[in-house]
Amino acid sequence: MSQLVAKTPPLSQRDRSTPKLISELCRQFYGLGWVSGTGGGISIRDAEGVWVAPSGVQKERIDPDEVFLLADGVWDRVEILERPRDPALRISECQPLFFNAFRMRDAGAVLHSHSLWAVLAARLACPDGGPGEFRSQNLEMQKGLRGVGCFDELRVPIIPNTARESQLSDSMADAIARYPDVDAVIVAGHGIYVWGRDWVHAKTQAECLDFLMRATVEAHRLGLGPA
Ligand SMILES: [Zn+2]
Repeated sequence: MSQLVAKTPPLSQRDRSTPKLISELCRQFYGLGWVSGTGGGISIRDAEGVWVAPSGVQKERIDPDEVFLLADGVWDRVEILERPRDPALRISECQPLFFNAFRMRDAGAVLHSHSLWAVLAARLACPDGGPGEFRSQNLEMQKGLRGVGCFDELRVPIIPNTARESQLSDSMADAIARYPDVDAVIVAGHGIYVWGRDWVHAKTQAECLDFLMRATVEAHRLGLGPA
């Protein structure tokens, strides 16, 4: 333990702008209904390493000092560089899923939302719980997604849910490999994982996807059919 402390710089020497940003983004995402009931999460990489929000806490009240810092580039295990002072805090259950996007896509940030629109859009596309695809076409907001035009047919993979978040890891990795042009995986009855080259890109893509899923659900409710 003393060796670990000696290798780790004091808290004050680190650039702490990213954990502050995570705290702020979690408050915003709570307002959108993405991280209610302690669900959802976010992880952002910077020069210090990989910052990950804690598990099972009120996401809109996360203090920057409660965010874990993990070693970057170490994807086969969890190497903690800095842990919160509160020993009761655990790393987000989403950690293996965040690592999938870092390892396979070199993402700069990953966001996990429990948005109701993701749950309903997945249910519309896969009433049996998946696997399947969410599809969208002819919507301007598709342009906020990497490589997608508004008249293209967008297809986002939907994977079945599991009892534990971490058990999604293999099927999420499989979906990422099968959809190289898509920066998201929807989990049936659960939510969505979205990533990007940095946190701005991840947030933008998450907002656009949320809009598209909501547009699909509302169009179905109004009996409009596909756009
Ligand atoms: Zn979740």
